[in-house]
Amino acid sequence: MVIVLAGPGGVGKGTIAGQLVALDPRLWLSRSWSTRTRRPGENPDAYVFVDRAQFDEHERAGGFLERNEFHGNLYGTPRPSVDADRDVLLEIDVNGARQVREQVNDALLLFVDAPDREVQRRRLQGRGDPPERVEARIAEAERERRDAVALDCVFLVNDDLDRVVAEIRQLIDVARKARVAPPR
Ligand code: 5GP
Repeated sequence: MVIVLAGPGGVGKGTIAGQLVALDPRLWLSRSWSTRTRRPGENPDAYVFVDRAQFDEHERAGGFLERNEFHGNLYGTPRPSVDADRDVLLEIDVNGARQVREQVNDALLLFVDAPDREVQRRRLQGRGDPPERVEARIAEAERERRDAVALDCVFLVNDDLDRVVAEIRQLIDVARKARVAPPR
């Protein structure tokens, strides 16, 4: 199964994804490629950091399940190759979620939102995004919410990390059971 964790920047998707994979050995977290430069203090494994030429070459070779340009940088999910008993977790944006839905029609699409704008702003500022980038991303979040509604994503609010992780685990559990249920 493919599980997409989408949502605006600064809602805590990375932390949630980390907890989900730590708690569930069946989940395999995909590592995206990005042409963005690494933020100060950012984990070197956060992305496969590449230049445009490397990204373009991989894309031409059909190496991405989906890709998106975001604020001038390219991001792409490499085509996953995992055992059938593993579920793939993608931490991507809503645009990518739409592309995944087009190719994997039973993907579980989740949209995680911040409790409010101030919390989102503080989180973006806290990780070192420049002020103009913070405001652009807050504005962007409005469009992402509308797109997520149109895509029929399941909406969750990250106001309590343990709770939202538990909710997502429950949704994954239900989706797994539905996928193995015998046809009537
Ligand atoms: P950031 O630069 O803040 O790490 O990520 C910018 C946005 O790109 C975030 O919403 C993040 O979830 C999204 N993103 C990260 N990797 C991918 C990817 O592989 N595909 C798509 N479509 N979006 C991604």
